[in-house]
Parts: sequence; C-alpha cells; structure tokens
Amino acid sequence: MAEKKYPSIAEYYSDICRDAIEKCIFCGDCLDNCPILPFSTLKNKDQEKIMQNLIDFLRGGPVSEEVYLEAFSCSGCGHCSDSCPQGIDVMLLHEGTKIELVKRGEKTPEAVNFIIPNRRPNLKGVLSALQIKPSEERWLKRAPSNPKKTENVFFIGCDPLIMPHKIFASLDILEAMGVDFVALAGGELCCGVPSLMAGGNPKESEEMAWDLMSNIKAFSPKRVILVCPGCYRQFTELFPRVLDYDFGVQFITQFLNDNLDKLKFKKPLGKKIALHDSCMTQRTELTDSIIRTLESIPGLTLLGKELSKEKVLCCGGIANMTYPNIGNQVGRVLVEETIKVGGDKIADSCPGCMFAFYIYSKEFPLNVSDISLLINEAMGGKEYEDKLEKCWSCKSLDELIGLTRENFEANGYPEEVMRQILPHIFPFAEHG
Ligand code: SF4
Ligand code: SF4
Repeated sequence: MAEKKYPSIAEYYSDICRDAIEKCIFCGDCLDNCPILPFSTLKNKDQEKIMQNLIDFLRGGPVSEEVYLEAFSCSGCGHCSDSCPQGIDVMLLHEGTKIELVKRGEKTPEAVNFIIPNRRPNLKGVLSALQIKPSEERWLKRAPSNPKKTENVFFIGCDPLIMPHKIFASLDILEAMGVDFVALAGGELCCGVPSLMAGGNPKESEEMAWDLMSNIKAFSPKRVILVCPGCYRQFTELFPRVLDYDFGVQFITQFLNDNLDKLKFKKPLGKKIALHDSCMTQRTELTDSIIRTLESIPGLTLLGKELSKEKVLCCGGIANMTYPNIGNQVGRVLVEETIKVGGDKIADSCPGCMFAFYIYSKEFPLNVSDISLLINEAMGGKEYEDKLEKCWSCKSLDELIGLTRENFEANGYPEEVMRQILPHIFPFAEHG
C-alpha cells in the first residue's frame, strides 16, 4: 500500500518526474526492454540520447517529435519500470510526460478522444452496443439515491463491457455462490485510467475517480470486486495516494480464491488451457491468484505458466489505438508466441489483451476465453455466445451492420454514425 499522500493526481506525477530528473543516469536499460521501441521510428536512435531529450523536456526544454512519440506510443506495459537500475518507475514517468505535453498545449493523438469512456461515441460503448440491447444489461450505471447497504460492489469497469458474455458469466458465478453484491458498470462511471494513461489529463481522471468513489461508497460496502486489471492498478496503486476510503479491494480471482468452497463445480472441464498473463496483472501481482483460480477448476490442465514467470508479452495496449501501425505489430508477437504454447483455448484476464487476440482471429485459429467463462462452464452454468468473435468473423461493413443493427439501434446509434465509426475499429470494414 502507498504511504505518501498527495493533494492531487497532478502533484503525484510531478513528484514522479522530479524524481526521474534527479536520478536518471541515461543508461537506456528501460528502452532495451521496451516492446514498442523495435517497431517505432525511434528504434535506430541512440537510447541514451532519447532519455536525455525526455529528461531535458521535463526540465523545461523543448517539445520534440521524439519525446511526443516516446510518450504517446507507450503501451503502458511497465517492462521498463522493472529494469531501471535507479528504481525509477519509468512507466509512470511516461504518463507524467504525457501530462506535461498536454499541459504545454500539445494535442493528444486523435484516437484518444475515442478511448475516454464518458464521451460519445467511444470505443467501448460502441463495441458493447453491437452486442447487447439496454434491456439485457444486468447492472446499474450509477448508484440510486439511498441504496441498500450491500457487502460487495462488483465494479465492471469500461473495458470488460466490450465482452458482455464474460460479464454475464461473472454475474452468474457470483449469484450461484450466494454473494451479496451489486453490479456497477463502467462507462458513465470510470476509474480514470484512460484519461490519465491515454489522455494525459489528471484533472479529468481525478474527477472520474471521485465520482466513482462516491457511487461505490453509497452502498457502504465491505469491499469492491474488480474484473479489469487496469481498474485494479488504479484502486491499489494510485487511489491510496490521493483518496480516502475504508472498503477492501479485490480482483475477482482473489475473491474467488478466498471463497473456493462456494464454487460448486458440476463437470470436469476436460480442456488444456494456455495462460497469457498480462503486463498489468504481473505489475499488480495478481498472477498467483489467477493461476490458483484456474488450477482449482476440475479437469483443466494449465499450460504456459513458465511464460508468465519469464517475460510477459505485451499486447500493444493503448498503442493499438494511438499508433495502430506500431501496436498491432507488438500484438502480433503476443499472438504468435502464445499460440506456440498449444492447448484448446487461451485464457486471459485483461480485456485489452483479449481484444488484441480478436484482431488476429481470422488469421490464427484462436479461441480466447476468460477465467469467469471457464469457471461458469465447469459449474454447469449458461453458455453465452461470444458476439465479439462473430463481429470479427464478418467480411464486410454491410455484413457487420446487418448482424448488429438491432442492438446498436436499440442503443440509440443511427446506421450512418456506425458506418463512420466501425471502419476505425474493424479493418475489414474500411472498404465496405
Ligand atoms: S511502459 Fe512499456 S511501452 Fe511504455 S515505455 Fe515502458 S516498456 Fe515501453
Ligand atoms: S533505466 Fe532508469 S536510469 Fe536508465 S535511462 Fe531508463 S529511466 Fe534512466
């Protein structure tokens, strides 16, 4: 848990940058471990010089294309932070650099506007609207006035809503376990990660965090259960620096591990599962709880554990949106390496990584699943159709529009708006 408190998120990041200015020795070890750099135009540049320019900029020096690219193409994987001999959290340094660039009037890459969840249209809202109607939603968008005290708030976050079938399975599991909980969706409510990591906007991020916190606190819960590793990072790394709250925070696998006796498995799964451990679950030390949960499922053989112990493969993260030409190449490495592990399915617990797998679903015979889907299956629960996979299997924009029309119209999106947006998400729709 964090110790030092800050008056604001902006102050916290100023401190990160001040610390790096003092300590960086320009060794370049951080860049040696960066999965983005080999695919970026910075790959042949002198690494010492790249870091010198970045630190000079933070000292008040000039904005350069190089500093901008270094900051905004960062996927947020954190591999650099693990390799700095000076103990600098280099991933946070990149976030601090984005904040400084925006403060000095630099515009964020255009795609960032599409990532922030409370703007309409936004990526996650659009993807969810393709798959379900509002009448199918089994969650609240905000706390009602005077809600009943509830032991657990299950905060779904924004990214997981791009795979509603996974959320339905999680809700079924919690219900079958007899857990006292309320489900709160992301979208209107957000932990603030996208505004911070992608948008360099600590003020907006903080406003979102306060709003989310007051909606959670309204239920006076004992704990919040999270299903997005990005939210988990925010709740455990950042919020304790700037906010006060008295409820516990658990990732869904931690909660399930503490309550394994309540998981009533009905049938052995009979499957070999390849594990992809995400950068964010590694950074937040969730890997052991993920492995323990998967290994508790009868008839599941887990493959690829050694991959999570060595170097975790990055999916391209935010760069898949801000610099898709770079991010997609990083994602391809992840897909190619994971597929070598073999198995019947790939299990992942990060919605961002799972999305990267879908991008390649036509090219590689992938079958991406999630821990909740596997548990629900072994508990004999309802099988939910993976409608995102169906969207990715379309061959043209017309086919995708035909497949999803009922849902997006029920969500208030006119066809002409979808025809403008979808080619930015699904490359096959570009010439549709
Ligand atoms: S967080 Fe990852 S992508 Fe960003 S600079 Fe560090 S290693 Fe590179
Ligand atoms: S590894 Fe640390 S000390 Fe070396 S260049 Fe990167 S931030 Fe500076």
